[in-house]
Amino acid sequence: MIPAKWDRRIRRANELASTYAFAVQGLNFYSRVATFQKSFYAEIDKALGASPKSSAERPVRDELDLFLLLPNLSPFLSLIQQAAPPQLAQAASALAQKGSAAWQRTIENFWHGDAELDLNAQPADGQFGVDPAGENASDSALAWIFLQPYAEYLADHREPLQIDGTPSTCPLCGAKPVAGVLRSEGDGARKSLVCMLCAHEWNFRRVVCPSCGEEREPQMAFYSAPEIAHVRVDVCDTCHTYLKSIDLTKTGLAVPVVDELATIPLDLWAREHGYHKLQINILGV
Ligand SMILES: [Zn+2]
Ligand SMILES: [Zn+2]
Repeated sequence: MIPAKWDRRIRRANELASTYAFAVQGLNFYSRVATFQKSFYAEIDKALGASPKSSAERPVRDELDLFLLLPNLSPFLSLIQQAAPPQLAQAASALAQKGSAAWQRTIENFWHGDAELDLNAQPADGQFGVDPAGENASDSALAWIFLQPYAEYLADHREPLQIDGTPSTCPLCGAKPVAGVLRSEGDGARKSLVCMLCAHEWNFRRVVCPSCGEEREPQMAFYSAPEIAHVRVDVCDTCHTYLKSIDLTKTGLAVPVVDELATIPLDLWAREHGYHKLQINILGV
């Protein structure tokens, strides 16, 4: 069964593209990526749908079905070449020419490695940089976007996990959060974080930095802009990291991963004020 979340994301991207002129290109790209990811998810479901749910204890990244994944990489790279911003499109074209041994290596390096670190080694907005080992971080970005539906599928087909405390990385796959989410609870709001890879959402304490663990209130602040009132920038003045949170108590229609991508002016503001992002998004922002 294909969860409705894919259609919700695509619809939201198209909706926001007509409101936020500054994000049209990024949202159009995302909309095409999400359409691919939806059908890839369906294919994974067809192949694995008969298997029983995995145990909650088994880390998502213990599984990697290359037999299922590899045949889908070539169509994915073609799409990226057509639809992505230039740097990522060029990386897709270079990777497409390298053939299946290199494809497998790229996928395995991302899945088993410290790929999030590579992804965040960015020289400038909108570009994936070069990691300390000299590998092109665009390859990590390609593997990341490609593997998202697979990771989501594995996360969606696990027994529920009992979590102790509030971890700052994803309890299912170990990746970093790409956004925060605020939902109403009683008179206030509760916060959760959304995983950059498997999109799992887990509860998190409201005033604590997911990067360094800071919890002294004067060090933690948030900023928002009147034009984008439902998204705020949560900053930490101890480690100078920021992450955006989508406030669903203000706009129930928001879809966190999409609204995160669309609200580029908040990233520009944060960078201008000396904060770096805990986890860049698929637009390299
Ligand atoms: Zn995850
Ligand atoms: Zn911090």
